[in-house]
Amino acid sequence: MSGLGELAPLIDRFGRVARKLRISVTDRCNFRCSFCMPRNPVWLDRSELLTFEEIGRVARIFARMGVSKVRLTGGEPLMRRGIERLVEILSSIEGIESVSMTTNGYLLEEMAERLKRAGLSGVTVSLHSLKPERYEQIVGVPGVFEKVVRGIRRAIEVGLSPVKVNVVITRGCNDDEVLDFAELARRTGISVRFIEYMPFDGERLWRPDLVVSGDEIVRTIQERYALVPLEREPGSTSVNYRFADGAPGTIGVITSMTRPFCSDCDRVRLKADGKLVPCMFSTAEYDLKPLLRGGATDEEIEAFIRSAFWNKFEGVESLLRRHRVPSHVRPMYTFGG
Ligand code: SAM
Ligand code: SF4
Repeated sequence: MSGLGELAPLIDRFGRVARKLRISVTDRCNFRCSFCMPRNPVWLDRSELLTFEEIGRVARIFARMGVSKVRLTGGEPLMRRGIERLVEILSSIEGIESVSMTTNGYLLEEMAERLKRAGLSGVTVSLHSLKPERYEQIVGVPGVFEKVVRGIRRAIEVGLSPVKVNVVITRGCNDDEVLDFAELARRTGISVRFIEYMPFDGERLWRPDLVVSGDEIVRTIQERYALVPLEREPGSTSVNYRFADGAPGTIGVITSMTRPFCSDCDRVRLKADGKLVPCMFSTAEYDLKPLLRGGATDEEIEAFIRSAFWNKFEGVESLLRRHRVPSHVRPMYTFGG
């Protein structure tokens, strides 16, 4: 009964069309990155989490409205038991072209092969420093660096593609490693993406002066290696570059704080507890769980999603235009970035 294009596209009042769904599968995490988690997180009760069947049903409805890419996130998505079963469910949905994941990589070494078999396409591993001690300080857990690096290697070995690395750069913490990460890209062919620090930490420690802009990051790399901008895909969160000398690997900057691309944003987020978040810079959330657990039909759920998405906030761009500094909305671990 389902099929891509069967239903009209999902569209908001600014004419933006949803193509990508980010699904947070848990708020729990085995790490404690200070830019994401509070010191004492309060976890959702397990009964509040959508089941894999519920997530699959929602994804199927989104796919019928033209959403074709799904990314799993969290918390730490690999902490959700049996996650490969969800990958299998999602990747078998007609119209879903790719299911990828953003992970801290700690459990990737042992899970990469199963995930690949289940149909996972790409994986993005967050790696915020190449210095083991500093990395472990950032994520708040000692002795984990080497295992995360082995996870990245394993992901490449089993053929997950693309394998990317995400680095949140914060001033005074890891901004001295920009070139080292560029060299990692050149050495390994990995795509390294630098993310501007967003005000979604757990202890409200974010300050504008801690943000290192994408422009500054690109300038730092250009002082050593000439970069050539790649054409930006519509809806992409990042501006990407290749090395002018033909070295492998690419560099991306996710400039959510200084140069956001809200006007062609094609994303919508589903939290682990079933709340839809059309824009992460807005507090607006729309709870699907009562419908899912209250006997609503697919048509009723579709209508609910359409009305939620129609009201999507214009975006952080509109705040910057009015010279307003974006402020804390909700911590990252609660919705997955
Ligand atoms: N646990 C997984 C991980 O760390 O990759 C997935 C969830 S995490 C919330 C998703 C992405 O958000 C990660 O790349 C993480 O580094 C990034 N992130 C977390 N807090 C951030 C912040 N305050 N600003 C920018 N990016 C952040
Ligand atoms: Fe966990 Fe990812 Fe948040 Fe770090 S960024 S605390 S790994 S959810």
